[in-house]
Amino acid sequence: SKSPIFFEGDCPQDLGSLLVLPLTTSDEGPMGVLVLGARAANIFGQQIQTMLELIAGQVAIKLDLGRAHETIREMAMVDGMTGLKNHRTFQQAFDTMLERASRRQDDLCMMLMDIDHFKRLNDTYGHPFGDEVLKQVAAVLGSAARKVDLAARYGGEEFALLIEDAELASSRMIAERVRAEVEALRFQHDSMGDVSVTISMGIACYPEHGQTKDELVANADQALYLAKQTGRNRVCDWPEVVEASDKVVSRLF
Ligand code: GH3
Ligand code: MG
Ligand code: MG
Repeated sequence: SKSPIFFEGDCPQDLGSLLVLPLTTSDEGPMGVLVLGARAANIFGQQIQTMLELIAGQVAIKLDLGRAHETIREMAMVDGMTGLKNHRTFQQAFDTMLERASRRQDDLCMMLMDIDHFKRLNDTYGHPFGDEVLKQVAAVLGSAARKVDLAARYGGEEFALLIEDAELASSRMIAERVRAEVEALRFQHDSMGDVSVTISMGIACYPEHGQTKDELVANADQALYLAKQTGRNRVCDWPEVVEASDKVVSRLF
């Protein structure tokens, strides 16, 4: 690369010897340099230089390996298609965040969302088109992630958001904004012009709407189901589910 190794002031002025060795593995360009300096002049003879080159080689191999591990770790955490966290990462992060929320007596809101009539969209416009829609919906969630602490692809066309330290009211506002942003997306289809999609969302918040992860997921899922039943393209929360079921019960009596 063309970026300089040293900037002015980086290097001590009174060096008699300076050795700069590239950190490189055989198949790639240098990923850094190993720099050695000494006050004494002409200190890096051929023998020392050869030895240091060997050391630099070992350092480069370790660095390269470290980067590879980092890439693999990242790949294992992220959903390849959307770039959002995958289901497994979501589950682990949820455990951690829930534990923290309980320790600090904080709120933690979870949202489940599902694309409306996605099967029909796939059937009408084709699976690759559906994939493109998925990616762009995911991008909306990803960019909402300034206020959201975790955005994940929960399943095929289902996503999950976790928001720390937010109560139901503020979570609903975030959810509403995400819903509206997805609704405003336009997808160009070659022969059928502009296409749009909508999502439905369900919210459940710790600690009021559930104490455990399973309970919160189940209740957010029921809220999502209510959103689907009551017309789609909308946000419902667990209290609304309770309210709706109270109505059903009171009608029975
Ligand atoms: P609803 O509004 O009730 O959610 O209707 P729906 O059709 O979205 O619901 P359903 O769960 O029956 O269908 C989900 C569809 O999502 C089925 C499946 O073909 C599609 N799907 C799941 N994962 C992917 C994917 O990765 N790519 C594409 N293109 N489609 C997917
Ligand atoms: Mg679904
Ligand atoms: Mg769906």
